[in-house]
Order: sequence, then structure tokens, then C-alpha cells
Amino acid sequence: METRGNVQELDRRFLSRTIELAKSAFSKGYSPVGCVIVDRENNILYEAESRRLIGTISHAEMFALLELQRDNIPDWGMGLTMYCTLEPCLMCMGMSLIARISRIVWAINDFWGGASRIYKFDHPYLVSRKTEFVSAPFLDLERIAQEMWMKYLESTGHAHMTLAVLGIEGVECVSS
Ligand SMILES: [Zn+2]
Repeated sequence: METRGNVQELDRRFLSRTIELAKSAFSKGYSPVGCVIVDRENNILYEAESRRLIGTISHAEMFALLELQRDNIPDWGMGLTMYCTLEPCLMCMGMSLIARISRIVWAINDFWGGASRIYKFDHPYLVSRKTEFVSAPFLDLERIAQEMWMKYLESTGHAHMTLAVLGIEGVECVSS
């Protein structure tokens, strides 16, 4: 999937916020993922960080989407943009599409469990959702998030998954 979409400078601001949330999650021992849901006027409606340990379903996107449901917005996610540190997984992408999120932007691709590797995005159901996907639009943010993920994989004994997940042999971990 090569859908970078219409990228704006505001995307950088909100993706940066997901990285802050991801750092917070990682500092608590969870996977480094943050999620921010923004309305048409670029107000942050919801933000959440991962509470995911390996093998659990406590993903940041899920918490943000459950808050959206709790507020019972009539149009659901129509017109909303969801920003994620990592490409959403099957579960979170499914929730986003059912919630009718209009646009989904992520800082880094997940070549292992990312939904775009597994879903058939040309399926009529998914096409009917008209969701815009923007993958890894900013090289500098991508690098920061990749470094964080490398540290996470290493810290959880999954360093051997770096290539499979991040699609890179390895980048130097320079930031802390
Ligand atoms: Zn997920």
C-alpha cells in the first residue's frame, strides 16, 4: 500500500504527540505506541497510550476508540483523523474502520503485524469506507519512533524481530 495521502504540517504536530505518548508508555514498560484522535477543526478529542504487554490487547488505539464510542458522537468517526505511532494492527484497524474514522496517519510501518500487510484494502467493504491512509510521512519522526521500537524489542527479548517488524536491519540507537 503506497497511500501517503495529503500530508500537512499539522500531521507532524499530532504524530509528534503520539510519539510523546509512546515514550510515556515505554517508560512504564508498555509497547511504545500513542494514539490521538483529532476533529475537523484540528482539536484533539482523545489521546491514549499503550498499556500493552506482549500478548495483550491493551492497545492505545483501542482505548481512544472506546472513548469515542462512550461519547456516542452521532456521526461516529466521520471527519475525524486518527494518528498512531505504529501502523495499526488488525484489531485496531478493524475498530477504526467500523467507527468510520475518515483518515488514519501513522509514524512508522509495522511490516509484521500492520493491517495493511494483511488486509485486502481493495475489498469492496473497505473501499466503501473511503478511509484515507497516510503511512510514515515524516522521515525524522519515523527515525525517532523506529529507535524507540528497537529499544522496546530489545528490552522484551524480541531483538530478532527488528527486521520483520520495522523492515530495517538496524539503526543506531542514538536518542534516549
Ligand atoms: Zn492494535
